[in-house]
Amino acid sequence: MPDTILVTGGAGFIGSHTCKALARAGHRPVSFDNLSTGHADAVRFGPLVQGDVRDPNAVEAALRAHGAKAVIHFAASAYVGESMADPAKYYDNNVGGMIGLVQGCRAAGVSRIVFSSSCATYGTPDRLPIRETTPQRPINPYGRTKLIGEEILRDLGVEGMRHVALRYFNAAGADPEGELGERHDPETHLLPLALRAASGQGGPLSIFGTDYPTPDGTCIRDYIHVADLARAHVLALGRLMAGGESLAVNLGTGRGQSVREIVAAIERITGRAVPVRLEARRPGDPAELVADPALAASELGFRTQLSDIGSIVRHAAPWFGLEPAHVEAA
Ligand code: UDP
Repeated sequence: MPDTILVTGGAGFIGSHTCKALARAGHRPVSFDNLSTGHADAVRFGPLVQGDVRDPNAVEAALRAHGAKAVIHFAASAYVGESMADPAKYYDNNVGGMIGLVQGCRAAGVSRIVFSSSCATYGTPDRLPIRETTPQRPINPYGRTKLIGEEILRDLGVEGMRHVALRYFNAAGADPEGELGERHDPETHLLPLALRAASGQGGPLSIFGTDYPTPDGTCIRDYIHVADLARAHVLALGRLMAGGESLAVNLGTGRGQSVREIVAAIERITGRAVPVRLEARRPGDPAELVADPALAASELGFRTQLSDIGSIVRHAAPWFGLEPAHVEAA
């Protein structure tokens, strides 16, 4: 059944793609965003309410005004490096934001929340692939604030709040139809920076660390297409609307790729060289993070469809100065 859903952070990268997926599934997304990092022009599939999740009254008013039945909560600060330099900002936005959000939800009688969590909650895992039962021992303030968010939601289960925590691995790519892309400022992520380097803008790509205990010495990550991630949110919402129990699941592909493999794939697919500069390790980076995607498949019926590196690069490339003409056909 179609429902109105409050999407905090709906003007951001994953939030805006999720609004499109919600609209496509027949729901009505209402974006709630303070536009501190989001873009008003990315809100294209429903109204935008400009507000801050740390303000329970603003959250309650938005939920009531639009008759929202559930929340998908993206609004947060999301740079690992920045969280090491300015942890207070992360506790304020991410933990304070979660507290403001749940207070607003309680006041408005909304008891279903899909939460944007992270594989950063696992820290450096003892074993790969990472399962949901892998101990959560974050190694940076960003990961800690996401873990605290999960714990707040777990604790509120006693009063009937139900949630799905989605632990994303590495979100990448862009809307396959070209309507939405990735626009972070500053940009710190591998794929956009490598594409920018391939386009000749922004100088060479820094490869952070070539002495990791991996086959080619560079870090391995599990890259998942943002449109696949967006679809997982619609499935998680469906579970909650159907009366399903609270859940925490990984969202990844189960396959890892190294920084050098990503660079090689971009060169192959775009036909452009990616100039690189070899640098020291970036503080806070674990060597290898790969998801076990089995629980998302069994509990949500979720399987990735677009998360091959070819689709990720083809869809993202036009947003980083590479004309589609330079990108090999699908
Ligand atoms: N990385 C890199 N150069 C960059 C940005 C990232 O070598 O300019 C590496 C980073 O060390 C990590 C991987 O690429 O191993 C993915 O980093 P990203 O920031 O995209 O995501 P994260 O895994 O930190 O969430």
